[in-house]
Amino acid sequence: MAKSLRPLIAANWKMNGDMSWVFKPADFAALYHAEDREHLDVLICPPATLLGSMLDPQQTGVLLGGQDCHAEVSGAHTGNVSAEMLKDAGASFVIVGHSECRAAGDTDAAVNAKAKAAARAGLTPIICVGETEAEREAGKAQKVVAAQIKASVPKLKSFVIAYEPVWAIGTGKTATPEDVAEMHDAIRALVTPKTRILYGGSVKPANAEALLALKNVNGALIGGAGLEMDSLVEIAKSAPKS
Ligand code: PEP
Repeated sequence: MAKSLRPLIAANWKMNGDMSWVFKPADFAALYHAEDREHLDVLICPPATLLGSMLDPQQTGVLLGGQDCHAEVSGAHTGNVSAEMLKDAGASFVIVGHSECRAAGDTDAAVNAKAKAAARAGLTPIICVGETEAEREAGKAQKVVAAQIKASVPKLKSFVIAYEPVWAIGTGKTATPEDVAEMHDAIRALVTPKTRILYGGSVKPANAEALLALKNVNGALIGGAGLEMDSLVEIAKSAPKS
């Protein structure tokens, strides 16, 4: 069934990759031809060291994004990159509030400031939210996610939400389609109808079709399976036509 929002299939390479990986978008494009890709957006978020060397999105049709950004434009912030720097290096999106960054100290307020910085630089922020296993077991998943959205999503014209249950990231455990549908329906009630809501957490070719078919799932944020272009192609092919 056609969906009204164009699916976004986003790969987060995390701290993986060297200069030989800059060619992977071309592998993706070769395996998955442009006409088949017309109904969706494919995004790769490589380490910042590779961003400026990656193949031109205009040539490959594969968009580029950052994995995190600082809230300031520039200054004495050793080890950080600003949203403006990511834009300058070819990014059009940036992930903010990934659970690995939240675990390292990013508060909702920090995520909110980073999302605003992304918009200031002309990037679309992908704002991550998600409950821990203990919060889910305590029946608090929806409450936790709603509170994260309230505090970490600024008023912006354009942003993407990624629902990533912390216990499903990099663990091989995936939320059931029923749990994902329930959470995405709840998130839909908090954001505008044109906001894309991605699911993330051990998405792979074997489970992508069932997850991407859900009404309020508008794409996926993919870690491990996004490192292999053939897996990423399989996942992208599972996306329903927009
Ligand atoms: C992620 O890091 O955002 C993620 C979803 O990872 P994985 O797909 O490996 O669970």
